[in-house]
Amino acid sequence: MAGVSAPAPAILILGQGSVAAARKAQRALDGAVLYGLAERVTDADRNFEDFGGTIRRLFQEDTPIIAFCAAGIVIRALASHLQNKRAEPPVLAIAEDGSAVVPLLGGLRGVNALARRIGDALGTTPAITTTGEVRFGATLESPPSGYEIGNPGASKRFMSDLLAGEKVKLSGDAPWLRETRLPFDPAGNLTITVTPQAREATAGELVIHPRSIVVAVAGGAEDLSQQVSDALAARGLSPKAVGVVVAADGDAARPEIHAMAKSLGRPLRFLPDVAALSLSNLAEAPIRTGVVTIAIVTGPVDATTIGRARGRLAVVGLGPGAAEWMAPEVRRALDHAQDILGYETYVRMAGPFSAEQVIHASDNREELDRARHALSLAASGRSVVVVSSGDPGIFAMAAAVLEALEGSEDPAWHGVELVVMPGISAAQGAAARAGAPLGHDFCILSLSDNLKPWSVIEDRLDHAAAADLVLAFYNPISKARPWQLGRALEIVRAHRKPETPVVLGRDVGRPGESLRVVPLGELKPDDVDMRTVVIVGSSTTRTFAKADGSTWVYTPRWYEAGPQDS
Ligand code: SAH
Repeated sequence: MAGVSAPAPAILILGQGSVAAARKAQRALDGAVLYGLAERVTDADRNFEDFGGTIRRLFQEDTPIIAFCAAGIVIRALASHLQNKRAEPPVLAIAEDGSAVVPLLGGLRGVNALARRIGDALGTTPAITTTGEVRFGATLESPPSGYEIGNPGASKRFMSDLLAGEKVKLSGDAPWLRETRLPFDPAGNLTITVTPQAREATAGELVIHPRSIVVAVAGGAEDLSQQVSDALAARGLSPKAVGVVVAADGDAARPEIHAMAKSLGRPLRFLPDVAALSLSNLAEAPIRTGVVTIAIVTGPVDATTIGRARGRLAVVGLGPGAAEWMAPEVRRALDHAQDILGYETYVRMAGPFSAEQVIHASDNREELDRARHALSLAASGRSVVVVSSGDPGIFAMAAAVLEALEGSEDPAWHGVELVVMPGISAAQGAAARAGAPLGHDFCILSLSDNLKPWSVIEDRLDHAAAADLVLAFYNPISKARPWQLGRALEIVRAHRKPETPVVLGRDVGRPGESLRVVPLGELKPDDVDMRTVVIVGSSTTRTFAKADGSTWVYTPRWYEAGPQDS
């Protein structure tokens, strides 16, 4: 899902012997997730089967990676992906028992700081190899979070001048600089200037901007990005010194506000009322021009202390059951969610989850309540996932969430970033197993009369069968609806020949999956239960023997015979 926050680190371990050290490292890192090799590690937060594939996927997703294994394994796995040193996340190799910490990649993204944190947790000195870091305890190319280099093109030269023995004077202040071993000297030839002001750097000057500007917008405007640039320019401020953009809950969905925050590359936070924003450590009185207010605080601003993030709600489809049938974006949404809601069986299918993730499992019948619960959690700024089996838009939660949202007048609900992520529906899964019964026009019907009158179902069945569509039945039968399927089959049989193939897919993609192909004339309601999807062929649906003795079913793409009535 989109978002400005960086992914939490992933800790990868290949054996049970690394669990203790990995957990120590994990406790030192915010939100880190422990991944264990499936066949060797029993109590990780998540499991993986293929080390190379997993580490490359994490790398591409920009996830900081801490791998408890030989550095060579990591290097070989990532070698083909190392193109852009500014884009790579921190990557560290750690000896399997935690005795050595080796930062490998991500020098510009704080890998050394990460290595120190982990080294402290494991009681070992990290093997830091970056020259400036070793000599001065600082990498000016990547200042700590909260600071940004104004003239990054000059930082490499600046660093090599320092290494060659030049002294540096400091103009402005940043506490972290004072803790380094940089050769400060008021008479130095080099200068580090710490300022939120935009500055054309002179020769031998490195400009560092503290992210100390709060941009608050009261409402949107088409040219909002321009207005913000103008407001900053009017005060001589650098856009790089912006720390956070703040807007009202009611404006949470306005695209121009998101575009502006994105172009600044800064987090966007929301408050009920931006006029009520009060900042304790103001450096200068806020100035308002039009809808834009600019405030400057002393030192970098901590965005997490202002308002809340825009809540997200993803309504996801897990597919019929098999993990390989779940879309990667769904897996990611599940991995990053704070709250997961859904029918208990499906929530279990969607796991495993880490200890910080909150699971709200519920009964299958409370769909609208669950939808409202999900929206209110997301409206409070949380990242929420609602799970459905199969596709969330087919007899599932997506429609319930939209119904709940349409029925609400709460601007915070409408401000939630809502996305629906598709899944493979039961009929598609069963069809793939059988061959291609949905190869031509088809329709999907739910035989449940919980939410619609039975007379409507009969009428639709009659028309769909008369139209010679392949029919897929969901919710075909249940204890509370014992006779309906028999009646439905009577209606279909009035239009289709007894030899019409019927596919019964039960628990498709799940343990104990079964697939049967029976002629319509022989199908009995007892052959079917609520975990079955029923696909009734059309007049053109064909079968032939598979080499293994079972049956292929397909509906050709062409059509010549007209609808038949038997
Ligand atoms: N959103 C789901 C459907 C929910 S309705 C989807 O897109 O698949 C529930 C019905 O779907 C069940 O009664 C059954 O008919 C069908 N179904 C769901 N998962 C199934 C599976 N793995 N195998 C067979 N049928 C399934």
